[in-house]
Amino acid sequence: MVFELEPEDGHDVRRIQPYQANKTYLCPGCNREMPPGLGHMVAIPLDAPDLRRHWHYGCWQARRRRKPLS
Ligand SMILES: [Zn+2]
Repeated sequence: MVFELEPEDGHDVRRIQPYQANKTYLCPGCNREMPPGLGHMVAIPLDAPDLRRHWHYGCWQARRRRKPLS
């Protein structure tokens, strides 16, 4: 199964394979924890590499589809 990662301006977006996920991360998209061993992705700001964020694939993709309610 292929996930299309949507790059974001100013970010380096990388895929984290299950064997690379060796700790628990908090997904900023849904505020849920990702247990070790779960494949996900990380978005790294190019100008602030320390502020990397780990996302579920689905949450990363869904965040761009959110439209303001009006
Ligand atoms: Zn999530």
